[in-house]
Amino acid sequence: MKHYDIAIIGGGASGCYLAALLSDTERKTALIESCDRLGRKLSATGNGQGNLSNILMSADKYFSSAPELVADVLCDQSVLDPFLGIFEADEKGRVYPTGRRASSLTDSLRRKIERAENIDVYLGAEVTSLAHGFVLTFNGEQISADKVVLAAGGKAQKQFGTDGKAYALAERFGHKTTKLYPSLVQLKTDTENIKTLKGLRVDCLATAIYEGKPLRSCRGDVIFTDYGVSGNAIFTLSSYVTDKIGAEINLSFLPDVGEREIASDVERKQNAGYERSEWLACTLPNQLGRAIMRRCKSDKPEDIARTVKNFRLSCKGTLGFDYAQVTRGGIEMSGVSYNLESEYERGLYFCGEILDVDGECGGYNLHWAFSSAKRVFDAIYLRR
Ligand SMILES: Cc1cc2nc3c(=O)[nH]c(=O)nc-3n(C[C@H](O)[C@H](O)[C@H](O)COP(=O)(O)OP(=O)(O)OC[C@H]3O[C@@H](n4cnc5c(N)ncnc54)[C@H](O)[C@@H]3O)c2cc1C
Repeated sequence: MKHYDIAIIGGGASGCYLAALLSDTERKTALIESCDRLGRKLSATGNGQGNLSNILMSADKYFSSAPELVADVLCDQSVLDPFLGIFEADEKGRVYPTGRRASSLTDSLRRKIERAENIDVYLGAEVTSLAHGFVLTFNGEQISADKVVLAAGGKAQKQFGTDGKAYALAERFGHKTTKLYPSLVQLKTDTENIKTLKGLRVDCLATAIYEGKPLRSCRGDVIFTDYGVSGNAIFTLSSYVTDKIGAEINLSFLPDVGEREIASDVERKQNAGYERSEWLACTLPNQLGRAIMRRCKSDKPEDIARTVKNFRLSCKGTLGFDYAQVTRGGIEMSGVSYNLESEYERGLYFCGEILDVDGECGGYNLHWAFSSAKRVFDAIYLRR
């Protein structure tokens, strides 16, 4: 049986990143990936442009039962060092390679991994069993390792090899998995008032509301669909409502125009003899103006203006894991140390999305994948 110092299960964002760091060492490493290529999901990130971090980095952007540990892992400033290239941030702080190609990030890591003499890459190899010792089984083959890193991702978008089966590999050592939810995902809502809006994209200020309290507002695109709403702003808000039954989304249209201005515009149209259904014509896209006029039962300009700013939709769930970018929940953080090592099995480590950590939209999830891999590298190589 072939023996390694380190076996990494999962050749996605965090697994490849860790292997790239290990390529500069003498540690004999196995990188085992169930898909036929490394970093398939990484190559699809940011609409193919690779939004790998955010300059507005803060632990507040993450959801986890261990916020202090997350903050501690994130404070490492050198996460982008292994990527050779030039990076730029957009107006929302989202960091991209200047060539705007996510696949260039994968290539950058893969080049280091493939050139390293100390790393064996196994592709098309799903680890189906991990036994004490450690002995790993895949494709009827077995290898052993002194240390194992579970970098097998979450449950979002199984076409990238992440179907959630890997949690069981940790559970056999006593680890628990929290309840899992899809996040960064389209929302199903009541559709009665938006049936006529299918396909319309509008810029608005969207707010997630739960038990009457606003949780998070986000300015951006909202796209109306036959099941509910999609778009950048909705993806961000989905993080706040995915685990909350009875949440609502408030859409405030014309975010740069005040209610008083909208009311006086409506009044002018009323005085000019416009049909009721046209009182928001020219000010909003026609079908949206009409939907708001159908929804508002009053003819008072100030009530109509208020409806423009308070278009509520009740959430009925999400489109699910097949559409989500990330998984809420994962391996319970109480079972891992500050080095992301198992509290139950020495030598077993975790990094990336498999842990109970997920971030908002905007580069936060890849940043976590890389910084948690860096933490594991420091622990196993520099022996923190
Ligand atoms: C379409 C899309 C776009 C996204 N865009 C962004 C973005 O712009 N910015 C951002 O920050 N985040 C983005 N994300 C989220 C981000 O890609 C993930 O959070 C990140 O890839 C997680 O890294 P990971 O290494 O934990 O898991 P993954 O990258 O998912 O890698 C896990 C790997 O483990 C393999 N694996 C699983 N089980 C086994 C097993 N038993 N044996 C062997 N291999 C196994 C899988 O095949 C997979 O390749 C996006 C996600 C999606 C789906």
